[in-house]
Amino acid sequence: FSEDVYGKVVLITGASSGIGEHLAYEYAKRGACLAICARRVHRLLAVAERARDLGSPDVISVQADVARVDDCRRFVEEAVNHFGRLDHVVCNAGITHVSLLEEVDDITHLRPIMEVNLWGSVYTTRFTAPHLRETGGKIVAISSSASWLSAPRMSVYNASKAAMAQFFETLRIEFGPDIHITLVTPGFMDSELTQGKYVAKDGKLVLDQEMRDVQASIIPVYRAESCAKAIVNSACRGERYVTAPAWFGVTYLWKVFCPEL
Ligand code: NDP
Repeated sequence: FSEDVYGKVVLITGASSGIGEHLAYEYAKRGACLAICARRVHRLLAVAERARDLGSPDVISVQADVARVDDCRRFVEEAVNHFGRLDHVVCNAGITHVSLLEEVDDITHLRPIMEVNLWGSVYTTRFTAPHLRETGGKIVAISSSASWLSAPRMSVYNASKAAMAQFFETLRIEFGPDIHITLVTPGFMDSELTQGKYVAKDGKLVLDQEMRDVQASIIPVYRAESCAKAIVNSACRGERYVTAPAWFGVTYLWKVFCPEL
């Protein structure tokens, strides 16, 4: 059995690029209505337009920072006021930084990773759960293979994704049959998140093409577009887990992020 999401309402956080953007297109192709959020509103508006072209009957885009509780509450309220219901909620918004812990001079630089990845998911889930109970809806939680691969230079990101996974596993018990949860732990995908970003000693975010090239030469990088399709298929079939093969993690993450270890 695969759920038909035609005319249903899907809320997605972090839909201005990467997997979130392609999840919006994938749901749009199936005729779902969309409520999407991110901080870059110009990107969001372009995604909304394309989603309408692909078949979504109605799309609202809301500028919101999921690390801010009031933004999250407002996003959900706007979606529910507009559509009157929620059927799928995708907790996708996420950030990372790549650096050894001791390379980060400004330690507060690491806080936003937890605030967006974990707390953004907590707020989004807290505010949408009552509406999902009414429709017997679903949550699609985008964690990461980093939740179980302890790749160096990503300690706080790994911790945030493991925390996210445990948060949703616990909710699976609390929600019981009322709200279904699909926990997604993708491998490496082509997105802005993986485009060779790391934090230099001065705390600034650096885009390193060389790192990106090394990444691409070592492992096959999954296309965000095909990942999005697999994720929506799995959520509609009511799968509890969607995961990536683990073999590359060991060979890849160490070589790229910490060749000296
Ligand atoms: P992108 O950087 O392309 O997308 C991240 C999305 O999250 C953007 O739309 C961004 O929009 C949004 N976002 C970031 N911070 C916030 C915030 N504070 N409030 C609202 N939206 C925010 O990366 P991906 O598509 O790769 O990442 C999507 C998810 O997939 C993340 O949770 C990531 O951890 C996870 N993932 C990615 C993997 C990969 O290899 N790429 C592997 C495993 C998991 P904006 O900047 O406009 O706010």
